[in-house]
Amino acid sequence: MQIFQLPRTAAFGQLERLARERILILDGAMGTQIQGLGLSEEDYTGHGSGCACRHHSDRPQKGNNDLLILSQPQAIEEIHFKYAMAGADIVETNTFSATTIAQADYAMEEAVWDLNYEGARVVRRALDRATAIDGKPRFVAGAVGPTNRTASISPDVNNPGYRAVSFDELRVAYGQQVRALIAGGADLILIETIFDTLNAKAAIFATFEAFAEHGQRLPIMISGTITDASGRTLTGQTPTAFWHSVAHARPFSVGLNCALGASAMRPHIAELAGVAPTHICAYPNAGLPNAFGQYDEGPEDTARQIAGFAEAGLLNITGGCCGTTPDHIRAIAEAVAPFSPREVKA
Ligand SMILES: [Zn+2]
Repeated sequence: MQIFQLPRTAAFGQLERLARERILILDGAMGTQIQGLGLSEEDYTGHGSGCACRHHSDRPQKGNNDLLILSQPQAIEEIHFKYAMAGADIVETNTFSATTIAQADYAMEEAVWDLNYEGARVVRRALDRATAIDGKPRFVAGAVGPTNRTASISPDVNNPGYRAVSFDELRVAYGQQVRALIAGGADLILIETIFDTLNAKAAIFATFEAFAEHGQRLPIMISGTITDASGRTLTGQTPTAFWHSVAHARPFSVGLNCALGASAMRPHIAELAGVAPTHICAYPNAGLPNAFGQYDEGPEDTARQIAGFAEAGLLNITGGCCGTTPDHIRAIAEAVAPFSPREVKA
C-alpha cells in the first residue's frame, strides 16, 4: 500500500495549523532532571519503593533511565509536567533507549513494549494535567533514539566489513518500539540524535510499517546530530546530504539536536533550512560540556542564541537537548515568541 495515501491523524492536522501560526516549542533534557533526583539502584529497579514493575534482570539497572517510566512513574510524570508548564507544546517520551538493542546492555529486552506503551501514557497524563490548567493543546512525541550500534561502520578496526547490527535487526527493534508508542498514545514519532543515517532509514521503514498496520499516518520528526567540526554526521554526511537521504519520508520536520551548542549548530541549521521544504527543528545542548562533562550555559544565554535563529527566519520548532532545564525551555519560549515561524515553501 502507498503509505502517503493513508489518512492522517487529527493531531497531524492540528500540529500543521499551529506550526503556521507560531514557532512550536519542544521540551528539554530528561537526563539532567533525572540526575537531580539522585536515585539509587533500588530506586531504578523500584524495589525500594514497592513498585509494581514486573520486569526483573540480574544486571544492575542504575543508569537505565528509561526503566524509571515503570519504576518511578510519578517522578517521570512530574518532569514532563514541568516542561509542559514551562511552555513546551511537544513533550518527548523518556524512551530514547527503549529498544531491544539498547536495552540488551541491561538485559531488559522483555520490558520494551511496556516501556514504550507506558512511556507514551505517562507523557499524555502530564500534558492533560497542564492543559486542564491553561487550555493549550499539547502533543506527545514518541522518542526513538539511534541505539548504541551503527549499521554503517565497523566497530572493529581490524575487520572493516563487520557490522554489529543489520538493517533488518534495527527494523524489527524499531518496529516493536514504534507500535508500542502508537498504542500508548504518541501523537508523532521523533527519530532523533541520528549519527548513522542507515539506522534512521531502518527506523523510518519500521515506522511506515507500523502506520500501515495502524491505518493512519502520524507526523514524523527527523533530527540528526553533527558530531565533528567539519559539520558532518558520524557517517560523513553534510546537512544537505542528510536531508536528501531522509526526504522520502516526507517528514513533518527535519533538523538537528545534541552534540553542539546553539551557536555552533546555527550554520548547519541554516543549510538545512535552505534545502528542505518542510519544518525546521533545532534543539541544541546548553552550550558545550565543561571538563567535567557538565553544561554551564544558562537559560538566558541559550535563549538569546536561539532567538537569533528565529530572527533570521530559520525556525519552525525549537527546544533543548543535553543540559537544558525547564528554565531553559521557558526562556527559549519567551525569546522566540515575537518572531514568525519560517515560511515552508513546497
Ligand atoms: Zn543531547
